[in-house]
Amino acid sequence: MKTRTRLALLFTLITATILLAFAAVIYYSTQESREREFYALLKKEAITKANLVFNAKVNAQTLQDIYRSNRQVLNEVEVAIYDQEFNLLYHDAVDIDLVKETKPMIDDIYKKGEIKFYQEGWQVVGLRFEFEGQDYIITATSYDQYGYNKLNSLLKTSISVFVISIVFIYIAGVFFSKKAFEPISKMTEKAKNITATNLDLRLPSKDNKDELSELAQTFNAMLDRLEQSFDSQKRFVSNISHELRTPLAAIITELELSLGKERNSEDYKQAIENSLKDAKKIVRLSNSLLDMAKASYDPSEISFKSVRIDEVLLDARQQVQQANPNYKIDIHFENDFENDAQISINGNEYLLKVAFANLFENGCKFSEDHHSKVSIFFKDKSIELTFSDHGIGISEIDLKNIFKPFYRGDNQKFADGNGIGLPLTQKIILLHKGTISVTSKLGEGTDFYVSFPN
Ligand code: ADP
Repeated sequence: MKTRTRLALLFTLITATILLAFAAVIYYSTQESREREFYALLKKEAITKANLVFNAKVNAQTLQDIYRSNRQVLNEVEVAIYDQEFNLLYHDAVDIDLVKETKPMIDDIYKKGEIKFYQEGWQVVGLRFEFEGQDYIITATSYDQYGYNKLNSLLKTSISVFVISIVFIYIAGVFFSKKAFEPISKMTEKAKNITATNLDLRLPSKDNKDELSELAQTFNAMLDRLEQSFDSQKRFVSNISHELRTPLAAIITELELSLGKERNSEDYKQAIENSLKDAKKIVRLSNSLLDMAKASYDPSEISFKSVRIDEVLLDARQQVQQANPNYKIDIHFENDFENDAQISINGNEYLLKVAFANLFENGCKFSEDHHSKVSIFFKDKSIELTFSDHGIGISEIDLKNIFKPFYRGDNQKFADGNGIGLPLTQKIILLHKGTISVTSKLGEGTDFYVSFPN
């Protein structure tokens, strides 16, 4: 069932309950007041007739005649008068005798002074009447036809008003809920059309601050982020294929040329060396991409433990120098540390080694002297590392872009690479809640500042 229909039904149900309770209260209070008023009328009639009998000494026959004639048109009150010993002194119509008096009833009336009850649907009042020092018992009864008619018509009117109101309220509920949900229906229709191929579509939203506009704006902001992420994924994939195609094409050309005609062993050796260099490039790229994927995992899936920064730096230096024996890397401690905790961070050893190795390698490969240095400074709440070199430096424009995937600066002719090292390094450092920044001067050198909380 649609929320809109559910709301309309709920609204109708609540209103119906309130209306029903309202109508019930009115009906029962009217019924009670009818009963009260009719008992009062019976009592008044009983006393009037007793006065006519005892005070005015009106002839019993006359009173009985009046009773019989009135009975034809209205529900005349039937009165009976007894003495204490249950002797009947007067009765409006003994042959009709609506109230079946008994001795215990007469005693009860005498004791209580007044009683009220129903007998076969007729209301009865019994009361003690005193005249000239003598106590008498009077009973009076009648059927409140007029009161019951009024009650019935009230009931019928209430039922018809109730039914009409409920139908009207339900129609109004459906109309208003439809109006209220109209913007949501529009949003749903629009959202159905948004797929990976048209992520530029947006939901209709107004500038005001109501909940639905806020929902649409939030949804649109999410689509903005998705679109950006889709675009960067697309760029990333096309960059990877380009980076892979270049060395692969070079290998194929090299091998085809070698096979084209008979060559001497020196030429073959050269061709193999060139192909090996390109194959190594591909391996380096695929390793970097693999590391990039690892660094992009959910942090909860990466194992973190306490690692000593100095040890990771030593490992990274060894790894870089193994691949490039002509690279020189210095590790310099700016201050002493008192315990292991001061020099350790909670991190992933493998990823940190990848990041430090990238910074060492860049420092060496973009310097004439292939020399890079890292200075370590232990602070109370952080460990600061500065990777510096006296190399060719980075231009102002390149400085803004070097952390973008596949971006290679103006100085790329100076050394081989694929533009993944720095974005990967940045990703790893952010994963460890650290920061990385860079300053550089063309021709003078470059400094990368890395800070980890510890
Ligand atoms: P790659 O080194 O494979 O080209 P990186 O992502 O590691 O890719 O670096 C991106 C670019 O930043 C490099 O192409 C280079 O222009 C510049 N760069 C990084 N480190 C240095 C450095 N120490 N000295 C000069 N340029 C650097």
